[in-house]
Order: sequence, then structure tokens, then C-alpha cells
Amino acid sequence: MSLEVSQKITVQKVKNSKINQVDFNNLPFGQQYTDHMLVCDYENGKWNAPKIVPYEAISLDPSAKIFHYGQSVFEGMKAYKDEHDAIWLFRPLDNQKRLNISSKRLAMPELPEAYFMEGLEALLLLEKDWIPTTKDSSLYVRPFIFASGNGFHASPSDKYKFIIAFSPSGPYFGGELKVLIEQKYSRSANGGVGFAKAGGNYAAQFYPTNLAIQKGYQQVIWTDDTTHEYIEEAGAMNIFIRINDVLITAPTSDRILDGITRKSIIELAKDQGISVEVRNISVHELIKASENGSLKEMFGAGTAAVISPIAGFGYQERDYTLPELNTSYAATLKKQITDIQYNRSADKFGWRYGVK
Ligand SMILES: *Cc1c(COP(=O)(O)O)cnc(C)c1O
Repeated sequence: MSLEVSQKITVQKVKNSKINQVDFNNLPFGQQYTDHMLVCDYENGKWNAPKIVPYEAISLDPSAKIFHYGQSVFEGMKAYKDEHDAIWLFRPLDNQKRLNISSKRLAMPELPEAYFMEGLEALLLLEKDWIPTTKDSSLYVRPFIFASGNGFHASPSDKYKFIIAFSPSGPYFGGELKVLIEQKYSRSANGGVGFAKAGGNYAAQFYPTNLAIQKGYQQVIWTDDTTHEYIEEAGAMNIFIRINDVLITAPTSDRILDGITRKSIIELAKDQGISVEVRNISVHELIKASENGSLKEMFGAGTAAVISPIAGFGYQERDYTLPELNTSYAATLKKQITDIQYNRSADKFGWRYGVK
């Protein structure tokens, strides 16, 4: 740790830990929180020293800009503990950089790398007993920044809060995923904020997703906003489509989030000789591949679920089913990524980050 930030972090500990109230063998995803959180305030044009304080409710003025103008960005990461109780993160500097990319787009101040990394590491070391070791469990890490300054005037806030909170979490259970290819609504547009991890992007997804759920699907496959002909993302995950033995994913753009799981899958797949095409893929091509039997797999990719296999999709009142495979790319790649994350295999790409 560099001396500038870590020496300034103040720590106020809880009197009584909640850890004994948590059933680590039966953890839902993201619903219980650890004893402490990191809070860092931005005011007068600079970030103050981070504080570690008890996890508790925060108080805001009703005029706080977050409520009215939605300046809010976040990240999603995980911390893992291996069998020797060593703590690991997965490509955390990519999350740090992406948080700033998101902030910039929403006219929010960027956070220096040391505040993010040293704050995160200090909090992880304090909360290390909360990192679950049961299978497929991890400590979900949620860094976020929002506008805490006051005023009904529609302009960027002059105050912000950066917070990191942790949630000990079991596997993200998606179940059999049936998805609907969206033909009306869009989650993003050219020149918009689709590439940013902005809270409002999620708000905009909920209504069309609810409509799909009412029709018996669990998720929406987002298509491009102008023609709805090209496949972009699967809910809040990036999407991969396997036709014969080629893995296809859409290129990142203004409209598509640059997922860390996505880019790790691309590298891992290429490394073992799977051919990967980063290109636009149309709904027409997908339907044709389904009809002629060359469509083998579809899956979503993101930190929470890592890889979510898609069992079927709906398009224009018809349902299409994916074949059941004995050995899927989804299962193979998921095992390879999680083996790296949990320090069960070599890390030839240098993705693991040890917290000491
Ligand atoms: C967070 C997110 C992803 C996945 O990104 P990861 O870095 O792999 O977790 C994909 N799409 C959207 C829209 C997201 O918000």
C-alpha cells in the first residue's frame, strides 16, 4: 500500500459483530452485509480521506441529486478465499478503471486508483472472516459512487460519496434461462450511457424484463436500438453464441458494456484453440443456425453468475430450444475461470490479485 492513502484511512469498529447470525452454508446472493463499509466523501473539488465505519443506513437530504437526476455508478466484483485462507481478487484494476469511465460519462469526479484499491484492501483485511469458503461462494464486493450534494437545480452535484460494501454470497442461481429477443425496447443507444455501469441503465431494463417474465421468460436479449436485428447483451450480462465450434460475441461499443468476464472468456477460449469471432450477429443468423442445427450454445457472461447457459429463446411468437450437450464450452470455460479465481489452477494470464 502507498503511504498517501492507506495511512489516512480511519477505522471505527462495530461493538458487536453480526457474523454469528449468518448461516454460511445457506447464503443467498447479495442479501446480507458485513459489519463495516468504506466511505469516502468528495467535496470542495477533492476526495477526503476514506473512513471505515460500521455498516449502517446513511442519511441524505430530500434534495440530494441522486434522487432527482440519477448520478450513480457502481461496480460488481468478488473476493475469494483459497484453501490456505489467502484472499484473492480477479482483475480488480479493470473494475477500478471502469468505475472512472462510468463516472466521467455521468459528469462525476474520477476516483484515484489508490483510494479504490487501498480502501478495498483495507476493508477486505478487516472483514476477511466474512469471505465464505463453501463451494461456489464468495464475498460479493459492491463499490459505488453517487451524488450526495443538495439542490433541485438540474446540474451535476458538487458532493459525492464513494462507498464499498460487502455481501457474503452463495452461487448466483439463475435456473434454466429462457430468454426473449427484444423487438421494441432498448437498454442503450448510440451516444448514450450503455457502456457505463450506471444505476439508471438497470432502471430502464426492469419494465421490459417484467413484460418478458409475464410471457414466461426470465430475461431479455437486447438488440440494437435502430433495427433490433443485431444481438447485443443478455439482460445485464454480455452474450456468447456458439455456432458449430465458433464462439461469437458482439463488439463493445457505446451500447455494450465492456465486461471483464467477457474479455476473460475471449482470451481463455482463444488460448485453447477455440475460434472466437468478435462481430455483429443478427437474429436472422441465429434463427437460421437454430433451424439447421449448427446453433450449439448461447450463454450470458458476468461477474455474478460467471456463465449462465441459455436453454431456449423466443422470437416473434415462436420458441427455439438449444440442444443439450454433454460437454459444453459454457461448462468448460466456467470451470477454467473459477479455478483461476479461487486459486485452484495456474494463472498464466496474471489475472489473480492477492490481498495481503
Ligand atoms: C456488469 C455488466 C456486465 C458484466 O460485466 P463483468 O465485468 O463481466 O461483471 C455486462 N453487461 C452489463 C450491462 C453490465 O452492467
